[in-house]
Amino acid sequence: MPLPDPLTLRFTIDHRRAEFADPVSEERFIRHVLPERNAQLKASLLFAVVFYVVFGVTDLATLGATSVAWMLLVLRVVVGLVGLGGYFAIARYPESPRVSVSAACSLLVMALAVFMVLSWYQPEALAWNTMSHALILMAVYVIFPNRFLYALAIGVGSSLVFAAVLWAQGGLGPDDLLTLVLLLILGNALGYIAARRYHVAQREQFRSALLLQQLVDRDPLTGCYNRRVLQRGLLDAELARARRYGTALSVILCDIDHFKRVNDEFGHAGGDQVLDDFAGLLQSLSRESVDSVIRYGGEEFLLVLPQTDLAGAEALAERMRSAFAGRASVLEDGRQVHATASFGIASVPARDTAPIGSFEALIGAADAQLYVVKRNGRNGVRGVEVFGGEELKAPSPRA
Ligand code: GH3
Ligand code: MG
Ligand code: MG
Repeated sequence: MPLPDPLTLRFTIDHRRAEFADPVSEERFIRHVLPERNAQLKASLLFAVVFYVVFGVTDLATLGATSVAWMLLVLRVVVGLVGLGGYFAIARYPESPRVSVSAACSLLVMALAVFMVLSWYQPEALAWNTMSHALILMAVYVIFPNRFLYALAIGVGSSLVFAAVLWAQGGLGPDDLLTLVLLLILGNALGYIAARRYHVAQREQFRSALLLQQLVDRDPLTGCYNRRVLQRGLLDAELARARRYGTALSVILCDIDHFKRVNDEFGHAGGDQVLDDFAGLLQSLSRESVDSVIRYGGEEFLLVLPQTDLAGAEALAERMRSAFAGRASVLEDGRQVHATASFGIASVPARDTAPIGSFEALIGAADAQLYVVKRNGRNGVRGVEVFGGEELKAPSPRA
């Protein structure tokens, strides 16, 4: 049986919570859906505020223009203000998942708390209010984007309080009471199923999109990025970032030496094994989520190292070179393969004020360095600083 993909493992869904089990994955998902989620939430908040206040008319109709009716209207307006507060908080902090969840929870909790007061003062309308509550539950579970567990707590909690109100009012016969309580249970059960399905389906879709992106962006043999990420602008973006923040940026182009001989002597599968080991070494020695390792050609790899100057890139390349030269790949039949690799580096120094050249020029400069290493006998490291795409400094002497 094939091993589960690491991405699938990292994005395992905890079906009980209807969230990704790994908090980092959940956070990444939430940040991805936040703009759309906030747009929905803002619309839901406005909708709720308008309906909540407008329904004050029913209090006046039921109770007449009494002081209780006006008090209830004031409470409805307070709920409206909480909703509007949430709306403006989201508009002010659109990037904050916490603000989004707080806005949803505070409106729902306030609206339901006031709803209990309204119901208490209108005992003759309890059956109608039970239906209203069942409808509000749909909003809690489905219409208001929120954490599944919070929606569940608000839905069940408010239903328990409402059941207590029904009980304490004591005006209902046991048959009516039973029917209304069952209605509340049904409302919660349907809401629970719908919300859970929605939360899980949304995360499954997100995971599928990530998997698809991985298939498109990654080389299947080594798991490194493929060249498509360059076409998608990875290096352009890093160059632009280096320019904006005045930070250094280095690229290393490396190539396994005499790889054709490895293939000739150990077969294509043996060559593949060496390639995979080399890629694994490059990945393990570079910074996760900061550096990018790209399979640039057959046995040629490109490393993109943000915030790394020439000295840093040379030190890293030298560590990679000596680690690779000092180890052997062990093939399935037990044979050992020793190989070496050559490294060419091009670095944009920090606070380079000249206009940045194209990424092709940067890779070209690294390729020229690699070529010199190859010509000088391979298994070496050589780097150069580039300045607006032009070579700045004489190549460093180690090769
Ligand atoms: P140099 O030191 O000058 O780089 O010599 P080299 O033999 O490594 O370079 P050359 O470019 O002549 O040969 C590269 C070889 O890599 C040829 C090609 O068959 C092999 N190769 C390319 N992709 C793969 C692959 O995915 N798997 C295997 N096993 N071999 C590959
Ligand atoms: Mg080679
Ligand atoms: Mg090559």
